[in-house]
Parts: sequence; structure tokens; C-alpha cells
Amino acid sequence: MNPSQPLLSVRGIVKRYGGLAASDGVDLDVATGEIHSIIGPNGAGKTTLVGQLSGEIRPDAGQILFDGRDITTVPTYRRSALGLARSFQVTSIFPRLTVLENVALAVQAHAGHSFVFWRPAAEEERLREPAREALARTGLERHASSIAATLAHGEQRRLEVAMAIATEPRLVLLDEPTAGMGPEETRQMVDLLHDLRRDTTILLVEHDMDVVFALSDRISVLVYGRVIATGSPEAIRANADVRDAYLGEEYADG
Ligand code: ATP
Repeated sequence: MNPSQPLLSVRGIVKRYGGLAASDGVDLDVATGEIHSIIGPNGAGKTTLVGQLSGEIRPDAGQILFDGRDITTVPTYRRSALGLARSFQVTSIFPRLTVLENVALAVQAHAGHSFVFWRPAAEEERLREPAREALARTGLERHASSIAATLAHGEQRRLEVAMAIATEPRLVLLDEPTAGMGPEETRQMVDLLHDLRRDTTILLVEHDMDVVFALSDRISVLVYGRVIATGSPEAIRANADVRDAYLGEEYADG
């Protein structure tokens, strides 16, 4: 790995829906070890961008490089094998399985196995060990044998993160990890992401500006499918274009 090379590099990606360009030539570099947040108004194209990074949406044009390798047309499961993970959404949790089983399935999916309920004991342990570590990391250890549906909302969101990090990705894509959370749950998620940052690069899409400014090393502002500014939280706060397009005066003075 070349240390000066961005871990993720997006060059001019375009995604059109009819006449609308949800991505209109997006350029973005994410450096190894940083928390890089994407902010922008509703409909700016944040979710569409994450979908293209994870491989669920194919861009019409442009290039996505991961660790210098062109992954623009690489399918989702192979991106995951390369170390690029998207956090699962609450809707992808199996509600009737235990918390530990959910994470073990994420490990299994990463290993490229098909979905089977019967496994030899050694294989079972091979999946459960990293799953237990991910639960410890996300503060869900004591819920390991709880049925996933019985978890509080904030705990389910942390379970999504556990499922994403159980495979030790190099880059994790998190789409609004604090959505629907109260202040205490949000605080726990901020602590968790802060801790994760020690060994994982994080691309964060987040609406809560307190979370964004508390965590981010750099912020990119997406408006109408284009990145209009990238910089440190201080630089973004001070940027007049960003203020006009999105932040308003509230966050301008910090
Ligand atoms: P939000 O903050 O509200 O989640 P966003 O920044 O994530 O918004 P996207 O969901 O990526 O924005 O949507 C960008 C634009 O593309 C919007 O105008 C949206 O209506 C449109 N769009 C997204 N997905 C589709 C689709 N599958 N078909 C048609 N239009 C779409």
C-alpha cells in the first residue's frame, strides 16, 4: 500500500435517474484512518453515492478506486472480501435470530458461504469467535443470546455496526447510524465510532451536525449530486458556499 494514496478514490461518478443526475460527477478521496463525513441537503445524492460505493448501484460513468484498484464494476460481495463493508440496515437484521447468530451470519456471508443452518462445530466456532469480538466492541456482549427483535432501537443500530465490523473491514460505510436515536443512544454511537476509528477508516453519511462536527477529520458537502467543498470541520464551517447551500448560520460560528 502506498501511504500517500487515498484508500478510496471516487472520480467523476455519474448516476442518472431519467432526467435527474443523482450523482453528477462526484469526486471524493478518503484517506486511510480518517472519519470522512458526507453531508448535504435532502435529495443531494448521499444514499445514491453510498450505494455506488458498496456496489448495489452501478454508476453510468466515472471510476471508483479502492486501495488503488478499480472496483467500479466489482460486485458487492467481492468488495466486502476486499475490505469495503457497508453497515447493514435494521431491515437486514434477522429479527427472530439471536444477536450472536446475526453477526455470525454476516461473518459467514463475508466468507462467501451460502446460507446454511447446519454447520460442523469447528466451522460454527470459526464464525462465532469474530462475532463475539464484534459484540464486545459494540457493547452488545450481554445481549448475545437475546432475540434481535427484542433489542431497543439504538441497540439494533449498534448490531448493524457489529455486523459490518465483524469481518474487520478496512473501510466501513455508515449511512445515518444515529437516525431515530435519542440523545443517550446517539452519545453511545458517537463513542463507538470514535473507538472504531482506531483501526478502521469510516465514511459517514449523517444528518446530525453535532455528530458530524464531533467525529469528522474531514467533511465533504454534496449538493445536487456534486461535492461543492471538502475540508476540516473548521474549514467547512467557515465556507461561505456551504453556508449558503446547507449549513445556514447556526453552525457557522461553532
Ligand atoms: P436524503 O438526505 O433525503 O436521504 P440523499 O442525499 O440520500 O437524500 P438520494 O436518496 O441519493 O439523496 O437521492 C438523490 C436524488 O435521486 C433524489 O432526487 C431522489 O429522488 C433521486 N433518486 C434516488 N434514487 C432513485 C431511484 N431509484 N429512482 C429515481 N430517482 C431516485
